[in-house]
Amino acid sequence: MQESNLSISIAHLYPKLLNLYGDMGNIITLIKRCEWRGINVEFEQINTGDCIKNHDLYFIGGGQDKQQEEVAQELYSHKDELTAQRDEGAVFLGICGGYQLFGHYYQPHDKDKLPGISLMDAYTIAGNKRFIGNVTVKTDFLTPNTLVGFENHSGLTYLQGETKPLGIVSTGHGNNGKDGFEGARFKNVFGTYLHGSLLPKNPHFADMLISLALEKRYGHKIELEKLDDKLEWETHNSLIDKPY
Ligand code: GLN
Repeated sequence: MQESNLSISIAHLYPKLLNLYGDMGNIITLIKRCEWRGINVEFEQINTGDCIKNHDLYFIGGGQDKQQEEVAQELYSHKDELTAQRDEGAVFLGICGGYQLFGHYYQPHDKDKLPGISLMDAYTIAGNKRFIGNVTVKTDFLTPNTLVGFENHSGLTYLQGETKPLGIVSTGHGNNGKDGFEGARFKNVFGTYLHGSLLPKNPHFADMLISLALEKRYGHKIELEKLDDKLEWETHNSLIDKPY
């Protein structure tokens, strides 16, 4: 199928509230990497009070506890629709605070638990230490096998059941600084603590998400045209196992 006849629909969930440390850069990357290939992008921002239509890919960024509180109840009201979308193969990417809300709950310090939407079997508890710095993750599903980014969180995320990590931390702390894992994946739902923003310097992961979203829409794998990612890879490689 000619890429010029392809379309992909992307929703950015609650950008006015959850968009920390340049997380908007992930949306820009997804849109540009589609447009550079002539793939038409139907893009929608979902804000408080909006209904959530069916999309091929949903993105949600990170935020401080206060913003997470504002989003949590709203997101929870869409739990059933988004779970149905997950089960139809829609792609989700959640960063940090958004990632935490993909699990069953986020327990802040001295406050009531925030409900998650249980797209993945995980939970988060606020820790007493803030994890800040560069992170390098060794994965088993990407080539090259590294993901690089920046973390700034106190939440400690624990994975259960069939929810698997994105990989093993070789630099930084990751999900909880104890089990050596960073991020999570269940079906086509991906979560990570990697800000930075993540996708501009991890083009292989960006293209994987686009491919999965196209496969969900068209029902079969679609080979993406290669892009000139020289700058992206120079940036990626310059960050591998550099703690700061
Ligand atoms: N408030 C959450 C935490 O500190 C998420 C922070 C973020 O999104 N960077 O763990």
